[in-house]
Amino acid sequence: MLLQLDALMTALLIALFLLLLTTLLPWLISVTSSKSKVVKEELVELVGCPKCGYESSRKYEKGDYVGKVVGTCPKDSNSLIVKAIYVEKHTYAQ
Ligand SMILES: [Zn+2]
Repeated sequence: MLLQLDALMTALLIALFLLLLTTLLPWLISVTSSKSKVVKEELVELVGCPKCGYESSRKYEKGDYVGKVVGTCPKDSNSLIVKAIYVEKHTYAQ
């Protein structure tokens, strides 16, 4: 009887340990990974040629806006226009 109870207790302890491990492990991973990663937000703009469909992205420059002519198309020398401005998130591992 005593041996049976012992085995039951051991099984319970193992089950409890596994439960703790499975609940704690994802939490631990998320805590440690969020600390070692750096999230950097960068303003990027999409420039494109409305004639041939050429598209390129570049860093946002102060004063730029959607519809602004920012250069000439390398393919057909038409005007390159800012099509969109958006934030790009980069995650770096430290
Ligand atoms: Zn073009």
